[in-house]
Amino acid sequence: MSRSAHPAGPRHADVLTEGHYTAPAADLNVLDEKVWSRTVTRDADGALTVGGIGVARLAEEFGTPAYFLDESDFRARCRAWSEAFGPDADVFYAGKAFLSRAVVRWLQEEGLHLDVCSGGELTTALDAGMPAERIAFHGNNKTVAEIERAVEAGVGRIVLDSFQEIVRVAHIARSHGVRQRVQIRVTVGVEAHTHEFIATAHEDQKFGIALADGQAAEAVRRALGLDSLELIGIHSHIGSQIFDMAGFEVSARRVVQLLAEVRDEHGVELPEIDLGGGLGIAYTSEDDPREPHEIAKALSDIVTRECESAGLRTPRISVEPGRAIVGPTAFTLYEVGTIKPLEGLRTYVSVDGGMSDNIRTALYDAEYSVALVSRTSDAEPMLVRVVGKHCESGDIVVKDAFLPADLAPGDLIAVPATGAYCRSMASNYNHALRPPVVAVRDGEARVIVRRETEEDLLRLDVG
Ligand SMILES: *Cc1c(COP(=O)(O)O)cnc(C)c1O
Repeated sequence: MSRSAHPAGPRHADVLTEGHYTAPAADLNVLDEKVWSRTVTRDADGALTVGGIGVARLAEEFGTPAYFLDESDFRARCRAWSEAFGPDADVFYAGKAFLSRAVVRWLQEEGLHLDVCSGGELTTALDAGMPAERIAFHGNNKTVAEIERAVEAGVGRIVLDSFQEIVRVAHIARSHGVRQRVQIRVTVGVEAHTHEFIATAHEDQKFGIALADGQAAEAVRRALGLDSLELIGIHSHIGSQIFDMAGFEVSARRVVQLLAEVRDEHGVELPEIDLGGGLGIAYTSEDDPREPHEIAKALSDIVTRECESAGLRTPRISVEPGRAIVGPTAFTLYEVGTIKPLEGLRTYVSVDGGMSDNIRTALYDAEYSVALVSRTSDAEPMLVRVVGKHCESGDIVVKDAFLPADLAPGDLIAVPATGAYCRSMASNYNHALRPPVVAVRDGEARVIVRRETEEDLLRLDVG
């Protein structure tokens, strides 16, 4: 994973031995539109507004910490993806990034499909009225009960992840008297994260069936031999927060190679390929994500070229962006509680949430930005670490960032780009109450996932 150079004030530069710290590039009052959702701006008084509503009002009405999701930005991103890929491709939103009934309805209205990977996600999707044929069911260890529900519901595809699962799904489909549409997930020997990809020996992980040693070809052979399965294509997902298209290129080439082998061996041209998700977003000003139309063009060019050279009809492409749709659409709003300057090091700013609402920093060393949003300030920048209130020194939300030196308890600060993998990975550590998700659009704010209460906690405790 690459470390991006984070800004640091000159007076701190001598004490920081790792990273490349430079003075803050921009005025701290300026909100970089790369990392904030589309309708975010500052009002005349300097307070951040989203969807036309100021953060002071949002904090008063919904409390902190809370996630505020810019609904028009979410919808615009859905449309950008589906327009970029056009009528000959399908865009599946990866529900694990963040899923709620409201999100499912937006996806439906914007014409997207949906990936789920558990019974809980499937229930949410069906409950909100997503047509089953637009749902894909993923996972490396789906339970028999989950497969039964998916088959009964009539999901559009189940993505098979192991040899056992081929037989398991075939058996369940047969006992329900249906022919289940399936894809086989292969591992192409490419793993991509952030700015790099590694094209060797990354079969050493739990997902999929390796192309190497003819394993995937054997899986195709078995699936084609089972009447209750309709094998519609091959699936490959190579990683997450990827900026470089080279990994997708290798992946597409290897998947098309398999399609050619399948044609040669079985006389069958599988009609679909799914290239997965993983497209990166800007968490800090140094990240430069690609636009959906660039990604769509790059992927379809690769697939078309490879298919032409293999003499195959171009299959229908699908992609599965999660983070790239929902990630940039939300920010987490916190209230500053305590401020602890550590002489010669940095200042620790404690907020009213932490690793229970954003585990990514602790889990992946993820980088985030932060801004003072309840007001502007002309004070000097100070190097801060934004930490939570949990009993863990690794409870860090933003590792290195700048905030104005006059920051005070009671100020509101916000961390942008927390729409993906924050609420969906939130926990009750220290019996924290998981924060609400509030959708904001055109001057209206409404709760789409409510804040947990202490009653919610006690309800589960039946001892
Ligand atoms: C996680 C996942 C995605 C989505 O990944 P993002 O990085 O959020 O785009 C898509 N497909 C599969 C199979 C996944 O496991």
